[in-house]
Amino acid sequence: RAKAEQLGGYRFFEQTMSEELNDRRQTEHDLRHAADRGELYVVYQPQASVASSSIVGFEALVRWRRPGHGQMSPSTFIPLAEECGAILPIGEWVLRSVCREAAGWPNPLSVAVNVSAVQLHAPNFVALVHTVLFESGLPPQRLEIEITETALVRDFTRTLATLRQLKALGVRIAMDDFGTGYSSLSNLRAFPFDKIKIDRSFVTAVDSNQQAAAIVRSVLGLGRGLGLPVMAEGVETEAEMQFLQLEACDGAQGYLLGRPAPIDQFAHLTRANDVRLLSHAEDEPREQ
Ligand code: C2E
Ligand code: MG
Ligand code: MG
Ligand code: MG
Repeated sequence: RAKAEQLGGYRFFEQTMSEELNDRRQTEHDLRHAADRGELYVVYQPQASVASSSIVGFEALVRWRRPGHGQMSPSTFIPLAEECGAILPIGEWVLRSVCREAAGWPNPLSVAVNVSAVQLHAPNFVALVHTVLFESGLPPQRLEIEITETALVRDFTRTLATLRQLKALGVRIAMDDFGTGYSSLSNLRAFPFDKIKIDRSFVTAVDSNQQAAAIVRSVLGLGRGLGLPVMAEGVETEAEMQFLQLEACDGAQGYLLGRPAPIDQFAHLTRANDVRLLSHAEDEPREQ
């Protein structure tokens, strides 16, 4: 009987495993077609200058409305899309939509697009950016590409060449989630970044947590020494914002300044030259 139970248990285990595998295959299949099927959309989050409290641009963040599944966070589906290659059509769709959208904004509002390692290493990536800029008419200086350090770990020479080619187009490059990677300092020295984005984990409670404050101050010092502007991610409270003002941080992004939302919600900023600090954009639908 013990044996039968064991077998039953094993069979159950096997069945669960194959169900999970099937789910995953289905998700990957759906991801590959998400762009063609019109299931993707982009939300935008304002980025502010700390000194002037004005909006200087937006970060574009992709969303996937998968029929029958509701919202899934990009922190979940982007890694899956990277593993199965679906990130290429998704990334291309995002880049095209975002540049077309941002081309209509008043100068000098910029747009930041996240690009993952797989995209960066695709042989045609620089050509794609070039084509998309040309087709959309967006001035290259107003496009910023955000790269996390995990994108920099493989093939140093090729990565450096790609980043240099992007810069030669006039595009700016930001290091995203700074401080969470393996060798943040050597990466800063080795690659031609134009901006440092301090990870949200260091910005949270920076006004009251001494370790966080010490880390943020030292990144600001690093930025000054290297001549690179620093932007704080995930600013949620007035107290955090005041700390950043006092420490002369260049930029801020976070729920305090505005949540990611469809671009229509920022029409007062993108359709006029009057670019002021905005307060509370409405919440986007929550993840299910
Ligand atoms: P990220 O590039 O570091 O983007 C910032 C994330 O922090 C976003 O999450 C944003 O909604 C969230 N956030 C912003 N302000 C606050 C705040 O004040 N508090 C809190 N708690 N969170 C805040 P989201 O949109 O879920 O994106 C997660 C990650 O998925 C992004 O991190 C980025 O790595 C990736 N991602 C998003 N869109 C794309 C895309 O189009 N392409 C690629 N390759 N990756 C993307
Ligand atoms: Mg980012
Ligand atoms: Mg980030
Ligand atoms: Mg991140």
